Formats: sequence, structure tokens, C-alpha cells
Amino acid sequence: MARGTHSIAVRGAGVVGLWQALVLARQGHAVTLYERSAQPFAEACSPYAGAMLAPRCEEESAESIIRDLGKRGIAVWRETYPGTVANGTLVVALHRDRAELDRFARMTGGHQRLSPAELGAAEPGLSDRFAGALLYAEEAHLAPESALRFLLDAALAEGVALRLGDSDMPKGADFVIDCRGLAAKDALPSLRGVRGERIVIKSREVNLARPVRLLHPRFPLYVVPWGDGLYMIGATVIESEEIGAITLRSALDLLAAAYALDPAFAEAEIVRQGASARPAFPDNRPRIIPRKGYIYVNGLYRHGFLLAPVLAELVAVYLDTGSTDPEVFLEDPAQR
Ligand SMILES: Cc1cc2nc3c(=O)[nH]c(=O)nc-3n(C[C@H](O)[C@H](O)[C@H](O)COP(=O)(O)OP(=O)(O)OC[C@H]3O[C@@H](n4cnc5c(N)ncnc54)[C@H](O)[C@@H]3O)c2cc1C
Repeated sequence: MARGTHSIAVRGAGVVGLWQALVLARQGHAVTLYERSAQPFAEACSPYAGAMLAPRCEEESAESIIRDLGKRGIAVWRETYPGTVANGTLVVALHRDRAELDRFARMTGGHQRLSPAELGAAEPGLSDRFAGALLYAEEAHLAPESALRFLLDAALAEGVALRLGDSDMPKGADFVIDCRGLAAKDALPSLRGVRGERIVIKSREVNLARPVRLLHPRFPLYVVPWGDGLYMIGATVIESEEIGAITLRSALDLLAAAYALDPAFAEAEIVRQGASARPAFPDNRPRIIPRKGYIYVNGLYRHGFLLAPVLAELVAVYLDTGSTDPEVFLEDPAQR
């Protein structure tokens, strides 16, 4: 791709804005990153993520575009961020929920069935209690806070100018890339927030090498190993934009799921809890919406970490050649 020559303002330093800033700076553009918060990530949804890179498991509920773009997302993370852990994902169900495992297998691709013995070999802590498992070997995960810091440092090293505590409309740039997440509702009326609650715990007794999704007819949940004994238990999906503390019911469901997965979690320490709201359009698909020199990148819903690097590449191609991928770019005035 040609070296860039534009001056570009990126609004919002969540995972989407950070990837935009990094990729565009690497293209040679002069990038300034504006973040309303004085403290990086303090007001972002991004630190609440799992952050699983799970295009295959997400096939269960997401459209095929997520799978197709997500494969590239994993590749870019692996090329860029050494903390990306590519150990795959496990999906398990208790014996009484065996039908859920069959259903999940039918809805998704890219998996291999593991017998209880094979599951025990892959994750010794999970032997005996499950009806078997599905292994999605091509999936990956990472710890979101370290990854966000890495992206910010990488962007600064590429010459990105950072303006913290600045929420004003940038002036004088050739292009503005709006990555304000849910705050962009002021201009994108169909954007909504989908509440996700999660708990972070610390355990020295449990040793999981990869995210594990526990299927359950009422509340399917997952546990993501972030390293250093930290595990994220997530996440609810509720049509609400309320953020802050999680409810007692959700805490019970999340902690019960972790305990069902491995009773050794009983001695874990609860490190923090909280809820954020995922920015989403009505169809839960991500969008790039160019309006002359002002480009919105938003609606990444449950897939912000998975898809942010791919959307940054698509914006870079658009600035370079004007070409737009019709699956992602939206010209519909109703969405503007
Ligand atoms: C519980 C939970 C679990 C999740 N798990 C996963 C997962 O496993 N995998 C995955 O891929 N995704 C996951 N997600 C989804 C992912 O977190 C989101 O899609 C992603 O964080 C959205 O990123 P964003 O950059 O669009 O928004 P944000 O992270 O909210 O960033 C927007 C930024 O814009 C800033 N801003 C707002 N207004 C202005 C302004 N006027 N000027 C400048 N800056 C401004 C904000 O302060 C913020 O820093 C999860 C989400 C939740 C809540």
C-alpha cells in the first residue's frame, strides 16, 4: 500500500480507536488520537472484554461476516501483539446438558470433538465432570488491559500524538475517524448499548490454558485465563445501557458457572466486578460509515477485540484507494 500523506484525527482510544491510530500511523499518515478521559481506558468499554478472539464459537449467534473478518483479526493480533495466546477455545457441557453440546456443534464449524479422556489430557482440571468437549483450535485470546497498553505504546512509538482529556471536535485534519463507541449515539441514532457483566477472580489452584465456554440452556458463560492466576468470568448479554455494578442474580450465575466448571474456583479471590455496554447496531454487525471526510467506525458489539484490527485495515485501504467493502461500509443516511 502507498505511504500515507494525510493528517488524521482519531476520536476515542478504546480498542477500535487504538487500532485505527496504529495502522494509519504505520501507513505514514500523521495521526492525532483524542481521548475524552484524562486517564487512558477509564471510560471505555474495552477493558471489560474477555478478550476472546473467537470467530468460530461466535458463529452460534453471529452472522458469517464475523467469522470471515475474524480470521484476519486473529492473524493481525498474532503478528502484532506477542501477548496473544493461540491455544484455541474449549466448549463443554455437563452430562445433563449434553444436547446443548450437540446443538452448539451443529451451529458452528472449525471444531474437533474431544472425549472426556481427551478433554482431561488437554485441561487436567476439567477431567471427569463433562460429557465431552469441542475444541476450536484456531481461536485465541488475550488479557485486554495489557493489550490496550501495548497498542497505545505501539501507536506512540509510531509517532501518534496523544491528546488526553480532549473531547472537542478536532479541527484542521484531512480526515476524522470517529471511534467514540457508545458516545457516538449523538450522531448515530440506531446505535445502542448491550450490557455485559463480568467478574474477575484470582486463583492459584486452577490452571486453564485456554478459554472455556460452559453451555447451559439458561445462562451459557465462559471463563478466560488472563495469566498470573487471573480469570475473567463472563458475560451477561442484556438489552440495557446501564453500566457500573453487577446485579446479585448475575453474580450468582457467573460464580456458579465458574464453580461448576472447576470446584477449585471455590477458594478464588474476587478481584473486581463490573458492567459495561457494548456498542451495537440493530443487526449487531460492525459498520464503517464514511460521511465525506468524517468516518464512523462503530457497532463492534461482542467482537471489538476480534474485529478492530480488520476494520483499521479496511479504513486504511479506503483512504488509499477509495474502495469500500459492501459488507462493512454503509452509506445509508438513516444510519448516519
Ligand atoms: C463484558 C464484555 C465482554 C466482552 N468480551 C469480548 C470478547 O471476548 N471479545 C471481543 O472481541 N469483544 C468483547 N467485548 C466487546 C468489546 O469490548 C467492544 O466491542 C469494544 O470494547 C468496543 O470498543 P470501542 O473502541 O468501540 O469502544 P470503547 O472501548 O468504549 O472506546 C470508546 C472511547 O471513546 C472515548 N470517547 C467518547 N467520547 C469521546 C469524545 N467526544 N472525544 C474523544 N474520545 C471520546 C471513550 O472515553 C472511550 O475511551 C466484550 C464487551 C463486554 C462489555
